[in-house]
Amino acid sequence: MSDKVKEGIIKKINELSPLLISIAKEIHKKPELAFEEDFASGLLTSALKRHGFKIEKGVGGLKTAFRAAYTKGSSPVIGFIAEYDALPEVGHGCGHNLIGPASIGAAIALAKSGLKGRIVVIGTPAEENGGGKVILSKKGVFKSLDVAMMVHPSNDTEIVKRALAAIDVTVEYFGKPSHAAATPWDGANALDAMILAFNNINALRQQLKPDVRIHGIITNGGAAPNIIPAYTSARFLVRALEMKDAQEVLKKVKTCFNAAAHAAGVKIKIKVGENAYEAFRPNYPLAEAFERNLKLLGVKIRKWDEYKELGSSDIGNVSQIAPTIHPNLDICHKQIPHHTKEFNAIAGSESGMRGMLIAAKAMAMTGADIMMDAGLLKRIREAHKRG
Ligand SMILES: [Zn+2]
Ligand SMILES: [Zn+2]
Repeated sequence: MSDKVKEGIIKKINELSPLLISIAKEIHKKPELAFEEDFASGLLTSALKRHGFKIEKGVGGLKTAFRAAYTKGSSPVIGFIAEYDALPEVGHGCGHNLIGPASIGAAIALAKSGLKGRIVVIGTPAEENGGGKVILSKKGVFKSLDVAMMVHPSNDTEIVKRALAAIDVTVEYFGKPSHAAATPWDGANALDAMILAFNNINALRQQLKPDVRIHGIITNGGAAPNIIPAYTSARFLVRALEMKDAQEVLKKVKTCFNAAAHAAGVKIKIKVGENAYEAFRPNYPLAEAFERNLKLLGVKIRKWDEYKELGSSDIGNVSQIAPTIHPNLDICHKQIPHHTKEFNAIAGSESGMRGMLIAAKAMAMTGADIMMDAGLLKRIREAHKRG
């Protein structure tokens, strides 16, 4: 039974391939930045609608977010996540033009498989800038999903990859201006406080665990060299493998900021961003099911290295709510870094399209495994509970 269903899914995605490729290429040609992805979300939702999905636009208060559902029974609820935002200057240098079509291809093929359950596509704007999934998570958009799946195009195939929790923090120092040569003693130097803050943090680093990252930029460093700077500001990111560790480090970073204000005799304001990225919580039974399907499709997979080149992604927030996979799939076959013009070219190429179709097939086949095997869903749920 399982083999027949999977053969049907592969056949269906091959039939859908002209549509999926044309959507991926259209989105590639018209890159849209975070929260402005009207064209991409329109293309994806109209294809889903034509295939019998019920569409809800603007979910979670984001105009380019959507939920599309196909119902044939109430359980399980198989979720596919679509991203479609681009980057300034390098267009689809992260390949998100391939993520949406792969997810809707998987959803449509699974809907046509005749298996019982609910198939849901969540359209999630602004992965690159703004954390769309963080906002949607707070609005409860992922709560009903039994699993959430998406595949990210990459220069390597990695089934499970960790992502760091990341907290955004801004610091501002308020001093007193004065002529830097004539009356420097009348000033209070907000730039001195800022430089001390960076040095305090650099001193802190030796006592931090290796997974912690603290990095920042000065966004305002003063007006002119002959004026004692009265105002400075900086933006930092504090990251760690677990949110609770990032929170602990944040406390120490705040102490560094405050000590600097004290030393320089200036006032301080610290603002912690509301949309922190959660760490990625892996789900091994789900990831292993996906890996088996990817192998069935002939994809070669190296040994997993979950901790290689860690970054952060708003999929972390989804993974804390529902069992989630976010595998990387190699579309380059050589080392081309993300967020470059070269990766943008690959994301619009035949190799990108091939990867997108493989991603769609492997995700749909994994959805079918869960719909056909209650034991697998149980193992996925138990693993999620264990955390
Ligand atoms: Zn990306
Ligand atoms: Zn990216």
